[in-house]
Amino acid sequence: MKAVRFENSRILLTNAPVAEPDGQEALVKVAMAGICATDIEILNGYAQFSGTPGHEFAGIVQDAPGRRDLEGKRVVADINCGCGKCRWCICGDARHCETRTVIGIRGRNGAFAEYCTVPVSNLYVIPDSVETFRAVFAEPLAAALEITQQVHIINTARIAVLGDGKMGLLAALVLKHFSGRVMLLGRHPEKLAIAENQGIETIQTDKGSLPETAAGGSGQFDIVVEATGSPDGIQAALGLVRREGTVVVKTTSRNRSQIDLSSIVVNEIRLLGSRCGDIDLALRFLENRWVDVAALVEKIYSFSDFHEAFRHACRKGSLKVMLDFANP
Ligand SMILES: [Zn+2]
Ligand SMILES: [Zn+2]
Repeated sequence: MKAVRFENSRILLTNAPVAEPDGQEALVKVAMAGICATDIEILNGYAQFSGTPGHEFAGIVQDAPGRRDLEGKRVVADINCGCGKCRWCICGDARHCETRTVIGIRGRNGAFAEYCTVPVSNLYVIPDSVETFRAVFAEPLAAALEITQQVHIINTARIAVLGDGKMGLLAALVLKHFSGRVMLLGRHPEKLAIAENQGIETIQTDKGSLPETAAGGSGQFDIVVEATGSPDGIQAALGLVRREGTVVVKTTSRNRSQIDLSSIVVNEIRLLGSRCGDIDLALRFLENRWVDVAALVEKIYSFSDFHEAFRHACRKGSLKVMLDFANP
């Protein structure tokens, strides 16, 4: 099969053998995949991963020795594959299993290949009404929804989402179902327009600071979601949150951030890391069209054009670049 490999910051297009699923796994024929900012970070050294990347995907189960009922089903996957035995796994939260592998990120090949193997317990059948390209968003949408599972959000909570990239947009689109006072801050008018079209108030700002006249003003938000993708974003987020407020941190960068710790202490700010979320919940949002992800798709490339697709995804400010495996 054709498979992409990342090795020492190089992209290789290889011919790899199709893996054989063991009794706990399924072989999934990849139908579509999305290129994520994390993939770009990985190529540049984040997570020290070498192998086949790709963790946002949808496909069809080709072979599942232990779960024949899944064969032929359209599926998406929870990317965190736990050991199944530790206290985290027993509690149903493989995301924090210390020996976990993560599809396309840590110790396990991902979906930028014609086939990939996935533990059957990680698979979720896509509802019939959800088109495959929308289902590819299940993983990042689940990550956006994770915020709502971590923070108690009341309808009147003033929420700022900082960063109008893919994660910022998804976070804002999700959070508007939990609070009537969500504001998206970003620098790109065309991206802010995507959120505006789905009923979200936006402010165009360069440095993540607000004009004093703006609704809320700086230092007035109960919850600030930092989704800039930049190591500097956290400091801007701290400038927006109110005393005793919460900053949810979504950015993972290979570069370190510098923060003024004393402002967190003095203002008693809660700093909350937030990563992957519940795929089943994300599928429910997609099935009900509570979030319209179609507006986030910038371009769909054939898998054989991976190099061009990846170059496109690396362009600053690009939205979701996708790969179609129908004609590889
Ligand atoms: Zn991702
Ligand atoms: Zn475990």
